[in-house]
Amino acid sequence: MRRISIFGATGSIGQNTIDLIARDPDRYRVVALTGGRNIAQLAADARTLRVQVAVTAHEDLLGDLREALADSGIEVAAGAAALSEAASRPCDWVMSAIVGAAGLAPGLAALEQGATLALANKESLVCAGDLVLRTARDNGARLLPVDSEHSAVFQALAGEDIHAVERIIITASGGAFRDWPLEKLAAATVEQASAHPNWDMGQRITIDSASMFNKALELIETKEYFGVSPDRIEVLVHPESLVHALVGFRDGALLAHVGAPDMRHAIGYALHWPERRELPVERLDLAQVGSLSFRAPEDTRYPALRLARAVMTRGGLAGAAFNGAKERALDGFIAGRIGFTAMAMVVEAVLERFEGRTGLLDAEMTLDNVMETDHLARTWADEAMMKRAG
Ligand code: NAD
Ligand code: MG
Repeated sequence: MRRISIFGATGSIGQNTIDLIARDPDRYRVVALTGGRNIAQLAADARTLRVQVAVTAHEDLLGDLREALADSGIEVAAGAAALSEAASRPCDWVMSAIVGAAGLAPGLAALEQGATLALANKESLVCAGDLVLRTARDNGARLLPVDSEHSAVFQALAGEDIHAVERIIITASGGAFRDWPLEKLAAATVEQASAHPNWDMGQRITIDSASMFNKALELIETKEYFGVSPDRIEVLVHPESLVHALVGFRDGALLAHVGAPDMRHAIGYALHWPERRELPVERLDLAQVGSLSFRAPEDTRYPALRLARAVMTRGGLAGAAFNGAKERALDGFIAGRIGFTAMAMVVEAVLERFEGRTGLLDAEMTLDNVMETDHLARTWADEAMMKRAG
């Protein structure tokens, strides 16, 4: 029996993880499930999987969760501290699938008790790569990538020497607006940005795919996870989303990972690693697919990629500032406060403001300093949005 926990269980990655676990219930004992406002889903899954503790991120929903799990014998809890407490319970494998910087603290708590952390929450590495890697190392814990591109790179690197790697290429679908005329982008609506051409994901990452902020985060994630220098990491637009990443070696070989756009592959790979077990994903018929296409990303369409490159070069707490500003700008776009193209402008304005304050981004990378940077970035993003509004 493996003890597992799922953070962000009610989301898209969380539900795909539960789908895999529920196919083989005798292999797993679920310690903790966590969610947000969808109490009905959280309670239903907690009952089916007979978990030890169910946690909602929202303290005001503790009563609802308690009611939904009455007579079940399942413990309930709520709030950010409860999330970290649940993450510190002994466990073998933890899925980190909360969206945003809120996933960092529970992930660190899981690593501190030595669990293998399956990391869908890319924001952890973007905000605090050094801290996450150091925490894993210090506690003999393993970190496995779940982002499809990073899982693909990880698989292509199996048995290889990282020093023989010349370049890593992560692919991008190009998002909802890849073929839109540039002048129409400013007026793009939330609804239009929330429709991904190939992947079925949570709303926030779907909009981030349209703006390429998702790929921007993934560039930083690649640098942090694999420890390669930024100039060796490339983004390639690949509208079919079948090749997830490629690794180029110094002898000229290029290894590609090809598969259907179904996150259960990357989740299942991390769940069963180092074995490969059967997974319920589509087997590609390449004769049917016929052809694959690739093109370079356009700089003018995707300013987020340029900002990510600056962040990688800057290092320190720049990733936390970048991510915090991006999260707040995305909130602003979803709430109708700013337009689609203004998100990158807001993030850039926040990064410039950080650069104007000597030392801010060079503070030691502790959880407190990361969360303080995140908070300041959100405050400054709000101010930048207010200024734009009038
Ligand atoms: P989602 O919005 O569908 O689900 C997010 C989960 O996090 C939910 O359970 C929600 O209740 C919880 N949550 C939200 N805010 C929270 C907070 N402040 N505190 C605690 N819990 C909170 O998101 P998703 O698409 O499943 O993505 C989850 C993570 O995985 C993100 O970091 C995303 O970038 C990454 N990821 C997702 C996919 C995908 O296919 N969906 C692919 C690659 C990476
Ligand atoms: Mg990805």
